Amino acid sequence: MSEEIGFIGLGNMGAPMAGRLVAAGHKLVVTDVNTAALKEFAKLGARTVSSPREVADACETVFASLPTPNIVEKVAAGENGVSSGSSVKRFIDLSTTGATSSERIAAKLAESKIAHLDAPVSGGKAGAKAGTLAVMISGPRDHYEVAEPLLKNIGKLFYVGEKAGLGQTMKLVNNLLSATALAATSEAVVMAVKAGLDPATVIDVINTGSGRNSASQDKFPKAILPRTFDYGFTTALMYKDLKLCMEEAEAIGAQMWVGSAVKQLWQLVHSQIGPDSDFTQIVQLPERWAGIEVVAKKT
Ligand code: NAD
Repeated sequence: MSEEIGFIGLGNMGAPMAGRLVAAGHKLVVTDVNTAALKEFAKLGARTVSSPREVADACETVFASLPTPNIVEKVAAGENGVSSGSSVKRFIDLSTTGATSSERIAAKLAESKIAHLDAPVSGGKAGAKAGTLAVMISGPRDHYEVAEPLLKNIGKLFYVGEKAGLGQTMKLVNNLLSATALAATSEAVVMAVKAGLDPATVIDVINTGSGRNSASQDKFPKAILPRTFDYGFTTALMYKDLKLCMEEAEAIGAQMWVGSAVKQLWQLVHSQIGPDSDFTQIVQLPERWAGIEVVAKKT
């Protein structure tokens, strides 16, 4: 493996993951369309360049953490993309893109003899900072084994198979459950508060009882009860994941009744509260309908 490691996309997730590689002593070559994000990495000692191709000219291993499947495809195989780089041997996609797009990107990269590994992650910005993400990897095992020591810096690794897209499917079903928990917990807590219960007590009871879930344990205490709405995952990305999940479920003949309703609810959050809102702001829809706000009475 060449000395330098490539990293493309230094946003909410990419910045802390790349930061952990720097902290572990690796030399990084990074790029992002956001120049402010690049400046932060220059301060950490990373080499900043202006295209994915330049990253792939310098590095055998190139990571990406990008918002949408179209952007990943452009960065991987578009003009001045990773596929035109002279050193790159493997492209490791930490983004959530869905299995269909992953298969397409893997096939395009194979034309340039570049291996593709899916490595979508779960655990949010906090997990990315702490290096405790769940990382769901699929693709050629030999390339996975080369990248394993690097990937270990960002979380717990689950190698789920050789086939392109398997890691993505794993990630989409995880996010379907995360989205469902947040939607259902928002409705439940709003109902309880409308009836006169204290939201902090409601969350304490749920977390001690059988209703506990990732929204009651994490999102409500950290970003909804304090009304900071700063969990670090946008509604646009949550809605993207649900659309990808429903499309892929339909394509393989898996029925999704609850999932379809959850996707529709997120479509409403996307149009009514906005794509750039934090996904914890979903609670504001049932709040509006009920005419109350979920504000903790005690700390
Ligand atoms: P983000 O929007 O915060 O970061 C994306 C970064 O990519 C930004 O810095 C942006 O400037 C950069 N970028 C966009 N287009 C580019 C291009 N053409 N070339 C180079 N850089 C470009 O998104 P995020 O929240 O960090 O999410 C990244 C991926 O990880 C997404 O696929 C998301 O679904 C997934 N994910 C996010 C979370 C989370 O909690 N935020 C958790 C798990 C997985």
